[in-house]
Amino acid sequence: MDENPMVALARAYHFAAARHVHQRRKGEAAEPYMNHLTEVAELVAVATRGSDPEVIIAAVLHDTVEDTETTLDDLRVQFGERVAGLVAEVTDDKLLPKQTRKDLQIAHAAHASRGAQIIKLADKTSNLRALATSPPKDWGDERIAEYVDWAGRVVDACRGADRGLTAEFDKAAGVFKAAVA
Ligand code: ZN
Repeated sequence: MDENPMVALARAYHFAAARHVHQRRKGEAAEPYMNHLTEVAELVAVATRGSDPEVIIAAVLHDTVEDTETTLDDLRVQFGERVAGLVAEVTDDKLLPKQTRKDLQIAHAAHASRGAQIIKLADKTSNLRALATSPPKDWGDERIAEYVDWAGRVVDACRGADRGLTAEFDKAAGVFKAAVA
């Protein structure tokens, strides 16, 4: 990356905020979607100690292709090949049925690049934290348990990517196990 990484990171935050401007999280609290992206980026930045700015930038942008009109080409032009590639690795094909997408996430996690695995670990950690503090109104215990189980299986496929983040995930998942026990 030729650009100063701090400048690229600032651009990524602004880009994501503009693209996700009308989205909110699914939980009852309905926080701005951007809060999810800042949390995932922080988890990634702390875990990697800022050593790989492009992975943090990709973390900020990780849902732009899946959830907004953004294309991988847009990301390639704005943020370069590697960032676009990382986002591609963590983007579901929305043309596929939901269960297939969920199965593929588990299958793909094991073969993803380390950067993409780190983003996945942070994403699932953020999602479980949100599910614990503010579950969607129409989600019963069974649906929550199913999600926690599935997220655990995605994480199991890429545990080796980062110990600290894996521990953060286990902590977030532990809240649900304590609730069941
Ligand atoms: Zn996400």
